[in-house]
This record gives sequence, structure tokens and C-alpha cells, in this order.
Amino acid sequence: MSRLLARDLSFRYGARQALDGVAFSLEPGRFTALLGPNGAGKSTLVALLTRLYDLQAGEILVDGHSLRRAPREVLRRLGVVFQQSTLDLDLSVEQNLRYHAALHGMARAEASRRIDEELARQQLGERRHERVRALNGGHRRRVEIARALLHRPRLLLLDEASAGLDPAARLALNTHVRQLCREQDLSVLWTTHLLDEVQGDDDLLILDRGRLIACGNAAAIGTDHGGDLSAAFHHLTSHEVAA
Ligand code: ADP
Ligand code: MG
Repeated sequence: MSRLLARDLSFRYGARQALDGVAFSLEPGRFTALLGPNGAGKSTLVALLTRLYDLQAGEILVDGHSLRRAPREVLRRLGVVFQQSTLDLDLSVEQNLRYHAALHGMARAEASRRIDEELARQQLGERRHERVRALNGGHRRRVEIARALLHRPRLLLLDEASAGLDPAARLALNTHVRQLCREQDLSVLWTTHLLDEVQGDDDLLILDRGRLIACGNAAAIGTDHGGDLSAAFHHLTSHEVAA
């Protein structure tokens, strides 16, 4: 069974069509890159998956549970890192996580255990008492990932998690998330507008102006377009400007 199935998703903001008939699946334990230029509809899709916005058309199933009919079953299987950081900079790393654990109704002892485990996994154990403000951008993102994983989701959504980081920190974060995906049997949806964050064996979705214009194995999509994924991406997403 697919971890996530999205069927025929369309969404509009007033007259602006942000998603148009988008359908795809995410498989258990796989790293899927959702690649698209700015304005493609990536954050809108994340907002629908996390129920920030109600579905206007189409359906989302996670492990067979419908977002419309069983939203709680769906949401407890999802961990999310939004495009805009939602950490409180004046709270410590640990306090940020505790707040989230409380929101999820975790008992205090369970929360402490999970916070220890996830901070260790993110190599942040030593920094737990520091204010988030003192951390660099890459470490802040890791705090958000630790927080997103506290309730043991099966699918981790990251919306442009590497935006604003320098190239070395971007690569480190991308590598780190791939490792989490492998080690924890976690499905990952990694959204980005940067092709260099995609690897050949990734599952790849290319979104452009609200439409899914390619989906499948990243290397195979490149091969279909003459062997060069970079050329394919630029070709697929370059638009003639209407006269
Ligand atoms: P991406 O995350 O890929 O950059 P978005 O999902 O943020 O794309 O945006 C998709 C389209 O919807 C864009 O044309 C954007 O301008 C538009 N849009 C996004 N949010 C709103 C909003 N709150 N109101 C109106 N239009 C929006
Ligand atoms: Mg976005």
C-alpha cells in the first residue's frame, strides 16, 4: 500500500488556480523530491496535506486513511517542517520540543524520552538548553526535524527546508534527511526549487504552475529527456511569455 495517495487535487485562491488535477503516490521508506520553481504550488500542496487548508477537490489518503473522513488518523502519521520556521527563538531547544509534545498530548515522561532520543539523532543533545536564537540556520532546521519526529510519524514533509542556508549547510541537511529516511523506514517528501538537491535514485515529482508535469524515478525522467535531468527540468519549466 502506498504511504500517501493524492488523487485529483485542485485548489484555487479566488481566481488564481494554484493546483490543477495533481495526482501522485509516495511509497513507504522512500525519499521523494517535489521539485518546482517558485509559485509552482509546492507550499499549497503541503498546506492541503497538513490540513492547513481544506480540500476543495480531490482526495488524500495516508496508509489508506482518508484526510476527509479520518483527519486525525492522517495527521498523526505526518511530521511537518514548514517553509517558514515556527520555532520560538527565545525558548531553549528543549522548551520548543516540550511545547510541541504537550500539544500532541504526550505524557511528561514519554515526552522526555522522545526528546532525548530525537535530539541525540539530530546531534543536538549538547545544545538542548541553549536558546534557539543562538543556533545557526542548519541547526535550527534540525530542531524542527526533531520536533516533527517526536510523535513518530511515518511520513515527514519538508517544505524548502534548506532555503536560506549556505551551500555546505544545504548539502549537510539534505544528506542528513536522506539518512533518517534510510535508517527509520520513514517516507520523506522534500520540496525544493533547487535541482541539485535531487539524486538519481530519488522518486521525483516536478510541479509547474500547479500541474504535475513529470513523476517517477529521477534518473529515468532525465533519460526520457535526452539523459540530462537539468536540461529536462529547465525545458519542462520554461515558459513562452505570452505576447
Ligand atoms: P511554491 O510554494 O511552489 O512557491 P505556492 O504554493 O506558495 O508555490 O503558490 C502557488 C501559487 O498560488 C502562486 O501563484 C502564489 O502566488 C499563489 N498563492 C499562494 N498563496 C496564496 C494566497 N494566500 N493567496 C493568493 N494566492 C496565493
Ligand atoms: Mg513555497
